[in-house]
Amino acid sequence: MTKVRALVLERQHELALRDIDLPLDVGPGMVRIAIHTVGVCGSDVHYYTHGKIGPFVVNAPMVLGHEAAGTVTEVGAGVSHLKVGDRVCMEPGIPDPNSRASRLGMYNVDPAVQFWATPPVHGVLTADVVHPANYTFKLPDHVSFAEGAMVEPFAVGMQAASKAKIAPGDTALVLGAGPIGTMVALAALAGGCARVIVADLAQPKLDIAAQYQGVIPVNIRQKSIVDEVKRLTEGWGVDVVFECSGSPHAWKTIMELPRPGGAIVVVGLPVEPVAVDIAGASVKELRIENVFRYAHQYDRAIALIASGKVDLKPLISETFAFEESKAAFDRAVEARPTDVKLQIRVAE
Ligand code: ZN
Repeated sequence: MTKVRALVLERQHELALRDIDLPLDVGPGMVRIAIHTVGVCGSDVHYYTHGKIGPFVVNAPMVLGHEAAGTVTEVGAGVSHLKVGDRVCMEPGIPDPNSRASRLGMYNVDPAVQFWATPPVHGVLTADVVHPANYTFKLPDHVSFAEGAMVEPFAVGMQAASKAKIAPGDTALVLGAGPIGTMVALAALAGGCARVIVADLAQPKLDIAAQYQGVIPVNIRQKSIVDEVKRLTEGWGVDVVFECSGSPHAWKTIMELPRPGGAIVVVGLPVEPVAVDIAGASVKELRIENVFRYAHQYDRAIALIASGKVDLKPLISETFAFEESKAAFDRAVEARPTDVKLQIRVAE
């Protein structure tokens, strides 16, 4: 065990920046990484405010954070694709490589997956971490640490766009313009959509999404999304609907939005079970897909960012110093509609 400074969630509502013992021995196939930048995620904030998410309960002090980029400082035996000094970002979920889900290529749904900052697994708001090299990805020189820490949430958008099976020129609809909805919209555009309609109640969120070419913002406080989709698609419907709001309300009219033979990709999770209009889906032969985190997306997410086709920099709203981590979390709790992503710079 090695003592390192970390942002520790002691229990619900109580954060401390303090030293903690973490296992930092670099075994075969592992790399040690000095953390540079970490994004604050909705899940980190939810553990802070509620002490749990579904079945995952914070019963012991836990280091927060899972959206991270840093620099390799030590390389374990057998690691050939990384060297000391490489700038990297990391996939936060480590599956059992021999599990049935992993062997099927669906390692994200391996029941044994160990995911950063999901109890009881520590996260990465800490100076150093040891991680499998296979889940550590080199950043091109011109991709910043801040962008590297955005790869994790963008990978969720990539997973959603992949599940949608977008064809060039498609029209998509994203319900919910939060950080994930915005990432999904960008991945759908990069994946070939000609237009992405983005719907939300909050105008500031829509204004941020509308900076991107191809995004059509719709404020559903002012307009019916069913009417707007009909108007924009001459009554045919969109090729794919991405449900990113998590609002049970969204499900009441969702079957009216896709075209016949279209798709619904479920990204946002309602906290309560919702009624789904199966008959409405049936008469259009809709395809319904689900997204849980991501698998095999990091390489392509980094490639898109490096190419300039996807620019995530406008989504970084503010960066806090490590010593100001608690302020960053309290700001995140405010949930300002003008904030997309808050980041913490662990190292200068
Ligand atoms: Zn996240």
